[in-house]
Amino acid sequence: MQNIKKRIVIAGGGYGGLKALGELAHRNDVEIILIDRHPYHYLQTDVYDFIANKTNITDVAVSLVTLTGYYCGKVEFVQAKIENFDFTANTVLLDDGNKIEYDYLVIALGSRTFFPHQIEGLYEHTHGIKSLKWAFLFKQRFEQAMHKKVEEEGSCAIDPDFNIIIGGAGLSGVEIAAAMSEYSQSFFKHSGYACGGVNVYLVEGAPSIMNGLDPYLIKTTEKKLKALGVKIITGTRIQKVNENSVELSDGKTIKMNFMVWTGGIKASPVLECVEAPKNARNHLLVDKYFRVNGYENVFAVGDCAEIKDSNDKILPPTAQLAEISGTLAGKNISAMIDHKIPKHTTDEIDFKGVLVAVGGTDAVAYLMKKFRFSGILAFLVKKLVCVGYKEPLIAKCRIGMKKCAAK
Ligand SMILES: Cc1cc2nc3c(=O)[nH]c(=O)nc-3n(C[C@H](O)[C@H](O)[C@H](O)COP(=O)(O)OP(=O)(O)OC[C@H]3O[C@@H](n4cnc5c(N)ncnc54)[C@H](O)[C@@H]3O)c2cc1C
Repeated sequence: MQNIKKRIVIAGGGYGGLKALGELAHRNDVEIILIDRHPYHYLQTDVYDFIANKTNITDVAVSLVTLTGYYCGKVEFVQAKIENFDFTANTVLLDDGNKIEYDYLVIALGSRTFFPHQIEGLYEHTHGIKSLKWAFLFKQRFEQAMHKKVEEEGSCAIDPDFNIIIGGAGLSGVEIAAAMSEYSQSFFKHSGYACGGVNVYLVEGAPSIMNGLDPYLIKTTEKKLKALGVKIITGTRIQKVNENSVELSDGKTIKMNFMVWTGGIKASPVLECVEAPKNARNHLLVDKYFRVNGYENVFAVGDCAEIKDSNDKILPPTAQLAEISGTLAGKNISAMIDHKIPKHTTDEIDFKGVLVAVGGTDAVAYLMKKFRFSGILAFLVKKLVCVGYKEPLIAKCRIGMKKCAAK
């Protein structure tokens, strides 16, 4: 009797999708199709170093072409934009009109920057950094700011307030503020320039930066940001963004040269038209096995899903959660292919901790719910985590590259 392979489609080659892929690709009785609109996996968690010119573009983008090449014909990569899903017909609809059928589907489409329409001018005059294209643009704007400062060295009084504003002081906003401030300060100081650096403002509507995280993390990070010269404004909302200024809820207006918004996310726009249970921001509602409610063979992981812990509390979207949910969903699909009951649940989600990069070789750590420390040790742990994630992928890409070339 012929053994028919199960087809697994993974929609999205980010942190969650690649972990699911890693769990399933060792099987010989499956064919996997990975679909992404980009030919690379964008390492959002490492982007602060890229913006501050410490790394280059290949440090934040891993090739999905050679990565899937590593799996020797078992995994096919399709570069296409997904337009919709039909959970009844078990198909994924692509923007070129093609349909791809599946036995099991993992939706790992991540999220987009959410620009609240209540903030007038926000969408028009700022941008997010949730795509490589935008991160690259932001880096260029930052470089232009540096160039302007150098040009004005002879008359720095012309524009003493070169202001970069970051709206939203979550983990990503904080790390970017620290990287830019540290870089711009050291850039001028170490090179013996008379002109000062640029001003980096971090504006947050909540009472503190990184609201809701461990108090040690908040306090220590805030202290380090201030030492770097970051101007922190908390408990104050951005009300209006004009071309060259930002109006705050306390009545003040800050001159703005450019601004990045890291104040919120929403699910991928594709999910807007998907007929499935969703929350108000279109995140898919999943059961404890990461299956989209009502669909046995459709899983959703990472930022595009609303994932709750054992106390029914919604977990914040992080790369860590995307990786854990991708891994557990992959294991559950594997069990189902073996005609077993899936047993990996949200109860297994166990976070290792939080590491915040605060410029240069400094970081703040809160690990295993008990270890709190900062400085170079925390920085080294953070680097180790990044390298530990990235290097195995790069090693596979190198092998995949040779396999692709040998074909
Ligand atoms: C600056 C920054 C710093 C961060 N720092 C941290 C940190 O230190 N620690 C941490 O845990 N988290 C951090 N995060 C959050 C983390 O990056 C996200 O939670 C994580 O990327 C989510 O992974 P994911 O797999 O769900 O989605 P993603 O990694 O975003 O992957 C989604 C994939 O789906 C693809 N896709 C989307 N729509 C379509 C479509 N229509 N068709 C085809 N493909 C599509 C995308 O191209 C992408 O490859 C940070 C985020 C940012 C922006």
